[in-house]
Amino acid sequence: MLSGLQARLQMPQHIDLAIVPLERRMVSVQRFREADGSERFMISLDQEFFDSLSHEELKAAIAHELGHVWIYSHHPYLQTEALANEIAMRAVSRESMKRIYAKLWVHLGTTGDLDELLGSEKKTAQHNRNVRLAP
Ligand SMILES: [Zn+2]
Repeated sequence: MLSGLQARLQMPQHIDLAIVPLERRMVSVQRFREADGSERFMISLDQEFFDSLSHEELKAAIAHELGHVWIYSHHPYLQTEALANEIAMRAVSRESMKRIYAKLWVHLGTTGDLDELLGSEKKTAQHNRNVRLAP
């Protein structure tokens, strides 16, 4: 799934994924710099959260973290949740992003603004149309 998404998003970076016993944010990505200067990324997924996800939701969670990796690799873009989601939605639907946030918020005992995180429904549809029309 990870390499499929990387191919879809044209991301050649070295990225590993680990299911860990406890990840307070449920899912996160870390960047490491090797001695030779090359970069490596590690996505960590909380075991219990991972167990609760459908195939589609897992894909959305990974796509979001790949969004962060994309931002790390595209200076001078700033790390924001909204931009990570914008990148993610090149590969997964807005609907599955909504579902992963709903599940995330249950696990974190919090909530947030979907329009802020995912862009308004209308704008996203317009954006997707433009992307499809691009040569
Ligand atoms: Zn994020």
